[in-house]
Amino acid sequence: MDDRAAALDALARWKAQRSWARADPGSLAIAKVEPVGPVQVVLTSVYEARGVRYRLEAAPSRPSLNEPGPDPWAIDIPLPADPPVGHEASAVVPGVRVHMDCGLCSGMGDMTCTRCDGAGRIQHGKHSQACFQCNGRGHVQCPQCVGSGGLYGHPTAWARIEECQVIRVHESDELPNAVFLALNEGDHGGETMHEQRGAHIEDLVRQGGYRDAAGSSDPLRVLVRKLCEHPGVPDGGRVLHQHLRLSRVAAWEVGLENGSTLWVFGDPPRVSPAGALPSTTLRVAKVVPAVVAAGAAAFAAYWLLGR
Ligand SMILES: [Zn+2]
Ligand SMILES: [Zn+2]
Repeated sequence: MDDRAAALDALARWKAQRSWARADPGSLAIAKVEPVGPVQVVLTSVYEARGVRYRLEAAPSRPSLNEPGPDPWAIDIPLPADPPVGHEASAVVPGVRVHMDCGLCSGMGDMTCTRCDGAGRIQHGKHSQACFQCNGRGHVQCPQCVGSGGLYGHPTAWARIEECQVIRVHESDELPNAVFLALNEGDHGGETMHEQRGAHIEDLVRQGGYRDAAGSSDPLRVLVRKLCEHPGVPDGGRVLHQHLRLSRVAAWEVGLENGSTLWVFGDPPRVSPAGALPSTTLRVAKVVPAVVAAGAAAFAAYWLLGR
């Protein structure tokens, strides 16, 4: 398939997504079609996140200094050998009780009364009366620590398997901004040029002759290394395995006889600028509500004035 036929095929599939709203690509007067296939670099990381949650209990006092909680990575949390994304597990930390400030009242033991907003009195026109919720004090006892300002936390360590993805676009100089941004936001399919899996990917390791001649200053390799340095895994997450995929996104610059240009890209195909090539029926549909509104106004005028 030559570029013109391939671009038309992509446009036909794009029209089929919302056939009623989009123009028939067969009716376009196309002057020229240029392939612009940018490269999408997608790094997917599966990682384990851990944390501690507490079952809280009122303590008789505030702690003299806040104790650090247990390190969740030091707790034995039972996980299967290759846990799937979304898997969760937890383990109660036995024999540990953490003395902490109450978070609800910031260790104060009481809170501003919500009914009188701390004033102690409620205004009724010219008169006021003592607030019954706080008995005129303006503050109420904290229900969580029951006034002491301190809590005991009984920790449970949790683990959750999560996934994150970072995307960069290579060879994108010719692309308009909207296309560039769309390609940075999601995987747009395309032909896979290179794939790599590993516990921790640091660099582009080529096999099968893919750009074998390129050295360490090859811009694509530099881009991959930067991506691997910042894989988007939140602080404290432990990477379990990663997947790197480089794909050539199907993309064409289509120049029309009337001098305008549009871009068709990705799989499923998208068109930029958005809203290009509306169908003639949609253009008619946009006019019709105005006609209906004008008719309704005329009828209302008749109803009000004519009677
Ligand atoms: Zn009150
Ligand atoms: Zn409290």
